[in-house]
Amino acid sequence: MSSQVYFINLRASGKKDNIPTKLRRLYDKADIKKTLTKGDSTAVKIHFGEKGTNAFIHPVFVRQIIDKIKESMVKPFLTDTNTLYTGSRTNSPDHIQTAIENGFAYAVVNAPIIIADGIYSKNSVDVKVNKKHFDSVKIAGDIYNSNSMIVLSHVKGHGMAGFGGAVKNLAMGCATAAGKQIQHSDAKPKIIDEECNGCSICSKHCPVDSIGIQSGKSIIDAERCIGCGECTTVCPKRAIEVQWKTDYNVFLEKMAEYAYGAVKNKADKIAYINFVMNVTPMCDCVPWSDTPIVGDVGILASFDPVAIDQASLDLINQQIGKENTALKKNFQPGEDKFLGVHDHVDGRKILDYGQSIGLGNRQYELIEVK
Ligand code: SF4
Ligand code: SF4
Repeated sequence: MSSQVYFINLRASGKKDNIPTKLRRLYDKADIKKTLTKGDSTAVKIHFGEKGTNAFIHPVFVRQIIDKIKESMVKPFLTDTNTLYTGSRTNSPDHIQTAIENGFAYAVVNAPIIIADGIYSKNSVDVKVNKKHFDSVKIAGDIYNSNSMIVLSHVKGHGMAGFGGAVKNLAMGCATAAGKQIQHSDAKPKIIDEECNGCSICSKHCPVDSIGIQSGKSIIDAERCIGCGECTTVCPKRAIEVQWKTDYNVFLEKMAEYAYGAVKNKADKIAYINFVMNVTPMCDCVPWSDTPIVGDVGILASFDPVAIDQASLDLINQQIGKENTALKKNFQPGEDKFLGVHDHVDGRKILDYGQSIGLGNRQYELIEVK
C-alpha cells in the first residue's frame, strides 16, 4: 500500500492562489490538524539556517503554518537542536540569536523558540530502537517530551548524505550533540593545538575523563573517549574538531535509525511538510547558500517521512538541471540531480533502509492540491 503525499506547485496569478494561501490550503487538504489535540505542546521542527545562509524556509511560510496549528488550540514552539560543529548555532543563546537574525522573531512567526536539547545539549532522552547499529538513540528532551510534532524540512543537497529532507531533519536535527557525533563517526574529536589555551573546560565536561592537559594544551585519550561530542560543544576557543570521515552507507543507515527513534513515541501525532524551493547543493548548516541546482518545485505534506522525501526527490529529478551551478552532470529530466553534485554518495539509500526498518514507505500517491 502506498502513502499519500499532498503537493502544491508554486504558480500564482492572484490573491486566491498566492503561496501563503496555497500553503494553508495544503495544510487543510492534507488534514494535518488530525495530529493535534487541544492543549498539546507541539514541536515545530525546523532548521533556522546558519548565519550567512538565505535558502532556509521563509519565515512568512512558517507563520502560515503556526497560525493554522494554533486553530487547534495547541501551544506550538519552533525548535531545533544545537550543532556538533562550531558555528553560529553551537549553543542555545547563539542559536536563538541566529534564528532571530534570520527572521524567526516572535513578531514574525507567532511562536516562541525552544532549543530542544538545552543550552549545552545535555537535555537528552535515550530511546530504545533495537536496530542494527543502535540499541538506543539520544533524542533531544524537549522534542521527545512534546505531545505532537510538525516537521518542516527544506529539501536540498548535503555533502555526506547526498540530500537532506524530512528523514535527515529527524535524524540529525532531533539528536543531541552526542547523538550527532555517534551518527557521524566512530572516530574521536581532535584538538587544534594552535587554538587551545589549556583552560580545561573540556576536561571538566568529559563524561569519561578522557581529556588531560599537557604543556598547557588539552590532549584526548582516544582509547578512553566514547565519541560523545560533548567537548566540542563547550570549548570556548572552538579548538576541538570533529572527525567527519566515515563510511557513507553506514552513516545513512545510522541516520535512518535515529529518525526511527525520533518519531517512536509520536505514532499518529506527527506530520511533515517539505519545501522544495531554493534547492541548494549544500545544506543550511554551511554559512553560505549557493545557487539552486534546479528551479523551485513546490511544497509537499504527508504523514510519512520516507514517502515525502521520495516524492520530493522524484519531483526534483524531473527538472532540468541549471547551468552555472554546482551541478556537474545529470542535467536532463529523469537524471539524479544530487548525484550530479555529490557523486560519492547515493542519498536514496537512507530511504531504502528507512523503509526496511519500518520508518515509512517509498511507494506514494501524489495528490495535487489546487
Ligand atoms: S576547552 Fe578548548 S581551549 Fe580549553 S582546554 Fe579544552 S580544547 Fe583547550
Ligand atoms: S568526545 Fe566525549 S568522551 Fe571523547 S573526549 Fe570529548 S567529551 Fe570526552
